[in-house]
Amino acid sequence: MADQSSANADDANRERTDQLTFQDPATRYPVISPPEQDQPEPGLDEKLQPKADRGEFSYRGTGRLEGRKALITGGDSGIGSAVAIAFAREGADVAINYLPQEEPDAHDVKRIVEECGRTAVLLPGDLTDKAFCESLVTDAVAGLGGLDILVNNAGKQIAAKSLEELPDEQLVETYAVNVLAMFRITKAALRHLQPGSTIINTTSIVAYMPPEVLVDYASTKAAINNFTKSMGQQLAPKGIRVNAVAPGPIWTPLQPTDGQPKEELPKFGQSTPLGRAGQPTELAPAYVFLASPESSYVIGETLNVNGGMPTP
Ligand code: NAD
Ligand code: MG
Repeated sequence: MADQSSANADDANRERTDQLTFQDPATRYPVISPPEQDQPEPGLDEKLQPKADRGEFSYRGTGRLEGRKALITGGDSGIGSAVAIAFAREGADVAINYLPQEEPDAHDVKRIVEECGRTAVLLPGDLTDKAFCESLVTDAVAGLGGLDILVNNAGKQIAAKSLEELPDEQLVETYAVNVLAMFRITKAALRHLQPGSTIINTTSIVAYMPPEVLVDYASTKAAINNFTKSMGQQLAPKGIRVNAVAPGPIWTPLQPTDGQPKEELPKFGQSTPLGRAGQPTELAPAYVFLASPESSYVIGETLNVNGGMPTP
């Protein structure tokens, strides 16, 4: 496995203990101080410094999603890639959506999924396009032979110092990717989801603690929480559960692609009670829990995974 493994892993990630090992959460991962760096949007895990842990060597499956079929948007990198890897280790086949510029990351995730003996269907395309949101679902169903888990995870985050400096194009795209695509993909998926299926949306700590430089993005995340609660009620009688995961500061390509002001990167995540940024794979168990039947009575909930920051 080590021979084929990717440029996305570094030596430290190869030596991680798995998520079921008894350990101190403060020191499970080191405090990182990422150097100031810039990548054009959407950014690649492959170019992230330091490398993030997506779980390639550290997520151990226990058969919790055997035979399931999942569509994950933004499944090429960051949190979405960690979810794809964890779902495959738990026995699921996955379809992942991403932008065409992200082929290297997507192919790396496909390799890891296939090494688990599972299928990975790659479906590149732009979620700002309504017709693509609909064909994405059809293609995922065709590629997987059905669908019973939808993870709306793709997101756009660009910091802007003031509302006057927030370009209208950015405002529209951020809402299109984070909110409209979630509505459209969920709507298209409903034709295919049977009782027992689950929908999981990725929101954020900023839904409750909106930083002044993320006015557009933070408000989309509040909308995602709200959508999760209304759709949770609407779909519960049909046996489909809707929940959300709210990450805190997680080291992913979203951050050095202007998700944060560059000068903020060296102290990224250090102000959490745990004192460090989270790694993408630390989010994966929350998605696995919400996707699997063990959370049968959990509906409309937002599971916070944020290193200890208080939430409402
Ligand atoms: P990431 O960059 O790895 O993932 C975001 C993905 O969104 C990209 O890989 C890309 O494929 C997808 N995307 C963006 N625009 C798109 C478009 N127009 N069409 C199709 N796909 C598009 O970063 P991540 O941090 O893993 O982000 C995943 C989710 O987690 C996002 O919803 C983000 O808002 C959320 N989140 C991240 C953090 C964090 O600190 N990293 C914190 C809270 C919430
Ligand atoms: Mg990506």
